[in-house]
Parts: sequence; C-alpha cells; structure tokens
Amino acid sequence: MTTVLISGASIAGPALAYWLRRAGFAVTVVEKADAPRDGGYPIDIRGSAVEIVRRMGILPRLRDAHVDMRRATFLHADGSELISLTPGGDAGEGDLEVRRGDLTASLYALVRDDTEFLFGTSVDTFDQSAHGVDVTFRDGRQRTFDLVVGADGMHSRTRASVFGPEERFHRYLGYGFAIFTMPNSFGMSHELAVWATPGRAAALYAVGDDGELHAFLNFHRPEPPSAALRNPQAQRELVATTFAGAGWKVPAMVEAMRDADDLFFDTAGQIRMPRWSNGRVALAGDAAYAPSFLTGQGTSLALAGAYLLGHALATEDDHTAAFAAYERGLRPFVTLNQALVDNGAATLFPTTERALEQRNTMLRGLRTLPSATARPAHSALVLPPPPGGAQDS
Ligand SMILES: Cc1cc2nc3c(=O)[nH]c(=O)nc-3n(C[C@H](O)[C@H](O)[C@H](O)COP(=O)(O)OP(=O)(O)OC[C@H]3O[C@@H](n4cnc5c(N)ncnc54)[C@H](O)[C@@H]3O)c2cc1C
Repeated sequence: MTTVLISGASIAGPALAYWLRRAGFAVTVVEKADAPRDGGYPIDIRGSAVEIVRRMGILPRLRDAHVDMRRATFLHADGSELISLTPGGDAGEGDLEVRRGDLTASLYALVRDDTEFLFGTSVDTFDQSAHGVDVTFRDGRQRTFDLVVGADGMHSRTRASVFGPEERFHRYLGYGFAIFTMPNSFGMSHELAVWATPGRAAALYAVGDDGELHAFLNFHRPEPPSAALRNPQAQRELVATTFAGAGWKVPAMVEAMRDADDLFFDTAGQIRMPRWSNGRVALAGDAAYAPSFLTGQGTSLALAGAYLLGHALATEDDHTAAFAAYERGLRPFVTLNQALVDNGAATLFPTTERALEQRNTMLRGLRTLPSATARPAHSALVLPPPPGGAQDS
C-alpha cells in the first residue's frame, strides 16, 4: 500500500486524506497544533468547490452550518452610516459561507477513523531517495513514506525545506490583518459592519446569535510586516499602534485583541510557484497557490487541489505522472482565481482618500452586496470522476 504523509490538518490536508483513503492509500497527517485549529473568519465555498463537498458527502452538514447574513453596513470614519445593504440575488447558486472551524471539523470527522493523525509535532527534516522520503519529526521519531504532501499553509515549512525560501514565491499585496473573536456586547445579530479610513479597515461580523463576534482589523503597509509574522506580541503591538486614535468600535476591538486566544495574523499575499512538486514531495492548498483573502477563494482552491491531486494519484501509473496531471488540471483554475486580485478585489480596502471616495460612490450605487457576486472563475474547474468512487449526497 502506498504511504503518504500530509503536513497540515486544516482544509487541504484532511480533504486530500479523504480522497487518498478512498483510493486505498495509507495516510498519515501531521499537524503542529494539538488539535484541528478552530477560529478564523467565515470562509466561502463556491462554484466548483461546492460540487466537491457534495461528492465528499458533507454538503448537507455544511448547508446546515451556512451563515445566514442578513445585512452589511458600511460606516464612515466617525461611525456614522454610509450605506446598509442586504445580500444580493446574484450570488452563485448554492455557494456556501461557513465558519472556518465548521469546515475543518467536518473534514476531520470524515477521516479521523481511518487516517493516522500526529498532533503537536511537525517535520524537522526530509530526505528524498529513489525509494521514499525519510522524515524526522520534531519529537525525534523517524519514518519513511512513499510520498509527502505539504498542506501546511501560506508559510509552509515543507515548501521552504524542499523548494526554497518563501520570498522567492510570495507576492505581497500591501496589507496586514488580524482576526480574532470577541464577546458580542454590541447587540449585533446576523450582520456585518465595516468601518474604513484610508489604509485602515475594521469589521465586526455577528455570524449568529451565539454572543460571539468575528473581528477583523486590516491595514495597508507598503512593505510586509515580516518581523511580526512569527511573534504574537509584536503582532498585537503593531495592530494597536496602527489603529491608535481610530473611531467607531475600533478601540474596543483593539482591547479585545490583546486578550484574544485565537488571534490569527497574516499578510494579504499570494504564493506563485513554477512547479508544485519536486521528486516525491508535492504541495497543496495555500502552501502551493494561496490566492489571498482578497479573492475569498483560498478554501475553494484548497478543496479543488486536494480533489485533483487525489484523483491524479489514484489514476496515474506513478507519482511523477500524477503530480504532472495534478498541475495540468489545476493550474488554469488557480491562475484565473489569483487574477481576481488584479480585477478590483481590493477596492473594499482603499488606501487613499480618493480611493475611499470612489469606493463610497460605488457602494452608494449598489442595491446588494458586491462580495456575493459569482464570478466565472469560481466555476471554471472541470472535475474528473471522484477518486475511489463517489459518496454523493
Ligand atoms: C486558525 C486559522 C485561521 C484562519 N483564518 C483565516 C481567515 O480568517 N481568513 C482567511 O482568508 N484565511 C484564514 N486562514 C487560512 C485559510 O484556512 C486558508 O487560506 C485556506 O482555507 C486554505 O487552507 P490550507 O489547508 O491550504 O491552509 P491553512 O488553512 O493555512 O492550514 C495550514 C495548516 O497547517 C498547519 N501547519 C503549519 N505549519 C506546519 C508544520 N510545519 N507542520 C505541521 N502542520 C503545520 C497549520 O497549523 C494549519 O492547520 C486561517 C487558517 C488557520 C489555520
């Protein structure tokens, strides 16, 4: 039986584990956190990716978890209302928005019983030979796998170890952001509120009535705040300094961020690589082709990549042919979706007074929410039959 080690148990990792298990591979997933990680802003599953979760049999569960957002209010610097919008009828039919943790939990539940999970550790070294990949884990254990897949996110260590430093593949898009949850002391319900001044934006999202708000603080920086990326204290300081003196509910948000135990800090950026495999090691999800949160397509690309990689490994003669087929099948879809950032995806986060005024004029002309608009890129993937047979619902 072919053995595969997957690094990362968020979206791409467990999704790939599912398809590989169905095709008869022995799968081990290593995750540096102690359990599947909760938290993050609600994520979108759109177009081709909806069909993929249907084929995984988790569409009903995700439909139940769908976020029912009823109103989005855009605010001026002083907190007064610019415009209040309701979700449009122009969203892609059947597209989903769910809490990120709900998707991770659904994927984990699918594979936990027949996949080996190693939590709380990570790969220290990889050593490839013609026969396999010798792996040493942080805790000293050594194992050999036929194949390794890095699904360890935008700042993938697998990528750094096997393909080279992040700077070579990272395209910075000009923003840093912090995401965390905080108590809903503002009486918000099923609604989103977005505040913006040039170069700074804050959003509060009441996904349900459960007393919790998803908070988002986004700021423009010409250069990436690299020093803060691996230092949570530096992240808190940077965000607090950047938002000092801001109006609306921002001071309360900054205060809540200081105590948040689920702070997620990152930069808006893309990963663009000429190849997604090297010998017996391949990358999937954000590790290989992060499109940035500005496109809202990171999760859909991760699900699509896992599907095509699973299909290729299940149907091609060897891993070399499989990795080539994976790239051939997925790259046009990735290219289309990464290009969404060049087509106005950042207009909701203006960096100058003039751009803010243009955004406000655009918002005043809307009757429904722009983020709900379906784009042809979302549904552009041609799906081969499910690897290992279907589990439709
Ligand atoms: C806690 C969390 C919150 C997030 N919140 C948002 C958000 O609000 N907005 C947004 O746009 N995107 C967010 N993301 C990213 C989003 O999930 C991805 O863009 C997308 O879903 C693609 O998923 P992925 O599985 O490829 O990568 P990711 O979701 O980034 O998952 C990577 C996984 O690999 C694990 N990992 C990292 N390094 C190692 C290592 N060396 N060894 C083993 N495991 C490792 C991580 O802990 C994580 O579980 C978040 C990710 C996480 C983990």
